[in-house]
Amino acid sequence: MNPFCSFSIGDCRNWLTQNGEKSFRADQIFDWVYVKGASSFEAMSNLSKELRAKLSQCLAFPVLKQVRTLESEDGETIKFLWELSDGKKVESVLILSGDRRTVCVSIQVGCPARCAFCASGKQGLKRNLTTAEVVEQVLHIDRFLKEKGERVSHIVFMGMGEPMENYDTLVQAIAIFHEPKGLNISQRRITVSTVGVVEGIRRLAEEPLKVNLVLSLHSPNQHLRKKIIPYARKYPLEEILMAMDEYAEKTKRDITYEYTLLAGINDGRREAEELAHLLSGKQCTVNLIPYNPVDGLSLKRPEKDSIEEFRAILEDEGINTTWRYTKGKDIAAACGQLALQN
Ligand code: SF4
Repeated sequence: MNPFCSFSIGDCRNWLTQNGEKSFRADQIFDWVYVKGASSFEAMSNLSKELRAKLSQCLAFPVLKQVRTLESEDGETIKFLWELSDGKKVESVLILSGDRRTVCVSIQVGCPARCAFCASGKQGLKRNLTTAEVVEQVLHIDRFLKEKGERVSHIVFMGMGEPMENYDTLVQAIAIFHEPKGLNISQRRITVSTVGVVEGIRRLAEEPLKVNLVLSLHSPNQHLRKKIIPYARKYPLEEILMAMDEYAEKTKRDITYEYTLLAGINDGRREAEELAHLLSGKQCTVNLIPYNPVDGLSLKRPEKDSIEEFRAILEDEGINTTWRYTKGKDIAAACGQLALQN
């Protein structure tokens, strides 16, 4: 059975005509699923009973089963745990910030990158998610928000997994999120985060997409970076930064570098100066993320003073920085904390 949420609107039109139906029904079905938030084909009252039965028999929808939700104490972060058809589980996080309703989606079960500070990386890669499994994370959270009169406004590919290692799914899911007759989320509001898979960055720059790109940098040099992101040893840092520059040039999007600060490892004056030198003259922002504790890891979060000193060194060199206020720590939904605690 094809999963419905892997269909672009064009795929849906083709499927309908191949099955003896009128192609304009695709617009109605997309409206039901992505705009009205219908949870089954049965609910689509302006389709004939026969078509509804045909859709239910031939197309799988939904493919995700919601297992549970966990809300942070401040109510600003909600973590959703989903069960996949093979029993594996993934998580997504909804972050409420001002008017923004951001969904952090997962793209793989586990992750091959094995970053030293990350709960998802500890388990390694289990498998890629399908397009429908990625799309439905956002769709179901959008439906959850609709009940409160709200909608998903932003999507970040920063949950479990390395997006560039599930590239076709990434690109298909972005196109479905952006579909004007569907969720209609602007590409400016979609962000992809990578540890620096060079061929993926170059391919994405050639797509007719203009999404924001974030590099998980975490170190100013290859030697230290290899220890923090074992996967990164495949890609020399200079080559990654060159690919990021090309992406910025081709898409006219600014680039963000994420830097998780680990006490005594990458948060010293020397690393700050090296980082300032590395990024000097680039149109970019460095997002500093103080490490979030993960069970079973002995890493530590730096003290506030040393984070401020690190930031000041970058700012003095004219590098724009943000210090991300971490949401959802109490429910292990913060950056690097996603893992399956069921
Ligand atoms: S931080 Fe991201 S890239 Fe690194 S192991 Fe975790 S999920 Fe993978």
